[in-house]
Amino acid sequence: MSKSKKLVVGNWKMNPLTYKEAEDLYLSIWDGVGKCKNVNVAITVPLVFLRGLSLIKKSNVSLGAQDCFPGEIGPFTGAVSVRMIKELGVQFVIIGHSERRAMGDSDQLINEKIKSALLNNLKVVVCVGESIRDESGDYLNFIKNQLITDLSKVKRNLLKNLMVAYEPVWAIGKDALRPAVPEDAVEVAIFIKKVISEIFGRAVGIKVPVIYGGSVDPKNCGNYLHDGVINGFLVGRASLSSEKFLEIIKITDEI
Ligand code: PEP
Repeated sequence: MSKSKKLVVGNWKMNPLTYKEAEDLYLSIWDGVGKCKNVNVAITVPLVFLRGLSLIKKSNVSLGAQDCFPGEIGPFTGAVSVRMIKELGVQFVIIGHSERRAMGDSDQLINEKIKSALLNNLKVVVCVGESIRDESGDYLNFIKNQLITDLSKVKRNLLKNLMVAYEPVWAIGKDALRPAVPEDAVEVAIFIKKVISEIFGRAVGIKVPVIYGGSVDPKNCGNYLHDGVINGFLVGRASLSSEKFLEIIKITDEI
């Protein structure tokens, strides 16, 4: 994955049901991606499918995990470590998705996961975003606090492998209120870069890619890209349809 290109990440979540369906979907996405010039494409799939799909290994669609546990091995029932994910030949991992946070991931645990993944040379997409958008602007403080804890004591030289996904929780999934208004998403993307500049310096802040996630579809995706601030998308539902996902990739590639 080259960093200056835009990035479109599909998050399949706990879908599809069978390996056969996962392979068919992966292959039809790979088939349609062709040679995108301006966009890197990745999909994060359920862990049980990762081994099989990584053996197929299509170079223009990267594979990623949807979560990880810090470290290597140990007494952590049900957990899969960063090192184990690395063993699968996977290049990156999503950390801090709001659905993991709702299952109990604290910012402190997210911080441990990020440090462990970056130390093991995985690319990390860390998700941040507010549950409620209040008129007084408190949501910006909420996002700032998430970033401060999530990125605490992360080594500066590892930040080249960090990407941030702005995912307002109210805009995600089938119960979403609505997608974020593009101007609002751009405003928060600039804010995220500013906070990262404050923590790690301007050189890091301006370079860190910020992508948007929340009810992205082929109809709305182009509207987020015109200012050149948002560097791509994290796509949930629409990544389960190869037609819709490929259309999003095509539009992103062309803008
Ligand atoms: C997500 O859960 O990360 C997401 C963006 O979902 P959706 O696109 O379905 O809103």
